[in-house]
Amino acid sequence: MGHPEPSISSPRELKLRMLEVGVCGTDRDLCAFSYGTAPPGCDHFILGHESLAEVVDTGGGVTALRAGDLVVAIVRRPCDDPACAPCRAGRQDFCATGRYRERGIQDMHGFMTEYVIEEEERSVHLVPRDLRGVAVLIEPLTIAEKAFLEFRAIDARLPWRKDRRTAVVLGAGPVGLLGAMLFRAAGFDTWVYSRSPAPNPKAAIAEAIGARYVSSLEVPPREFAGAAGNTDVVYEAMGAARTAFDVLQCLGANGVFIFTGVPSRGQPLSLDLHRLLLHLVMRNQVIVGTVNAGPDAFEAAIRDLAAFHTRWPHALASLITGRYPMSSFREAIHDAGIKNLIEV
Ligand SMILES: [Zn+2]
Ligand SMILES: [Zn+2]
Repeated sequence: MGHPEPSISSPRELKLRMLEVGVCGTDRDLCAFSYGTAPPGCDHFILGHESLAEVVDTGGGVTALRAGDLVVAIVRRPCDDPACAPCRAGRQDFCATGRYRERGIQDMHGFMTEYVIEEEERSVHLVPRDLRGVAVLIEPLTIAEKAFLEFRAIDARLPWRKDRRTAVVLGAGPVGLLGAMLFRAAGFDTWVYSRSPAPNPKAAIAEAIGARYVSSLEVPPREFAGAAGNTDVVYEAMGAARTAFDVLQCLGANGVFIFTGVPSRGQPLSLDLHRLLLHLVMRNQVIVGTVNAGPDAFEAAIRDLAAFHTRWPHALASLITGRYPMSSFREAIHDAGIKNLIEV
């Protein structure tokens, strides 16, 4: 690809051979130049942020990893502002300056290349060998895991025993369906609310994990709200502001609404703010937005992916709908499917 093979230049570095890179809506947006920036001084930009790699070489200061280990790399790297407390604490997913770098998204080349040098052990997480076939789903799963950790932190305010609880997942893309698996695994009655009418492959995955799938084209948000009953948590992974705020109306008492989708810009929308505020106050509701993921979410994603792999091997594998060679990058990005991969 005209990109020279890199080599290790400091004891803390690791050299990775990329195995697979997942593509998602972010990559489509980057290809449409909606956002994203190449590293300063670069006339090209390597995409790819959902990765799976094998360690091929390590610097002398690397202790916990060795050649042959499977790893998934984190996406976001800290900003260099000494006053940014989140970044200085290793929690750049909460960066307060916005000057972080992201692999394949902002100011840093991504993973759609044969070899990558990682700066340090902290930039990668070890993946068990038996997850080789599905491990590229770890990065998208971290989005759901961080949302779930946020939910757990907020939910800790309710000190009583909670038995039957209801989660609504908005959107049946990979981040939505992986989130649905997470809520199902945690024992929630789980609804997946998405556009396409069933039957379709996404609905089949939702049903295979014991979630109920409802099409927004067949059941409008207000009707859906009645069907799902008192909703304890809505996990939004759709990026569609209108549907999200319509479903917000159905959030139950003490409910938490978690936004993860980056909305595409559209016409300004009108909202019944009086009703929204009334519900927020009178029902003790919380609305929270979350982006990216911390090391705790990566560790949880690796653990939970292994659990999904045991419990729902077929449904999990069906999330991966296409494997393409690097030369078919365009098809991988634009072809329909749930999660398409580039095999490097
Ligand atoms: Zn992505
Ligand atoms: Zn920062």
